[in-house]
Amino acid sequence: MTPGLVIAIDGPAGSGKSSVSRAVASRLGLNYLDTGAMYRAMTWAILQTGIDPDDGAAVAGILTSNKPPQLVSGTDSNNPTIEVDGVDVAEPIRGAAVTNAVSAVSAVPAIREHLVELQRRYVAESQAGIVVEGRDIGSVVLPDAHLKVFLTADPSVRAQRRAAEQLDGHDASLAATESALLTRDAKDSTRSVSPLTRADGAIEVDTTLLTFEEVVDAVVDLAGQVSRR
Ligand code: C5P
Repeated sequence: MTPGLVIAIDGPAGSGKSSVSRAVASRLGLNYLDTGAMYRAMTWAILQTGIDPDDGAAVAGILTSNKPPQLVSGTDSNNPTIEVDGVDVAEPIRGAAVTNAVSAVSAVPAIREHLVELQRRYVAESQAGIVVEGRDIGSVVLPDAHLKVFLTADPSVRAQRRAAEQLDGHDASLAATESALLTRDAKDSTRSVSPLTRADGAIEVDTTLLTFEEVVDAVVDLAGQVSRR
């Protein structure tokens, strides 16, 4: 494990995880890893090859093919990057095609094992310490993190935040965004492997009524209270 502070931030879609995690990392001088971007990048690679994302065996097969996708995440909190085989995929992984397929891909055990190993390697390699965000970070990837946070917010607020982020205008209506988000949450929370859950020891922060700065301050305060092991 890195000699620095390790913070795990989990929560459902639109809870503000990514922006809060990046800001906390930046304030504390830590690295930042967006594991959702890694599942999205793997999904992008699968869609590129024409594999049906709902065919679990075919999805897993990409890892043992003669050209498994090579993912690289840049962990600078001021400039996080994500590449597949040297291609910058930061923009296409936010599109509707990837968003609609990602829960199926991330439910495949072999994909999870592969990405969890990669995620732990990034943590081990970080000298500064790191904020890692996702769905199973406190529960599975880093159960020994110094601080575990579970961010939540009411679905309507999460839908508003997600709609504001959407790049391609798909599902632009709030009602459609909320329904797509709840469908993805349901899939992520009920899958058999590493479902979205509040980890043992995680502190829940409900962001519904808080401003962005208030949430960042709350997590930075919590980080100040934990001791480094
Ligand atoms: O965080 P984001 O919404 O970008 O995550 C995209 C998807 O990646 C989630 O809906 C979930 O299916 C998957 N994911 C996961 N485990 C993580 C992070 C993301 O299964 N640690």
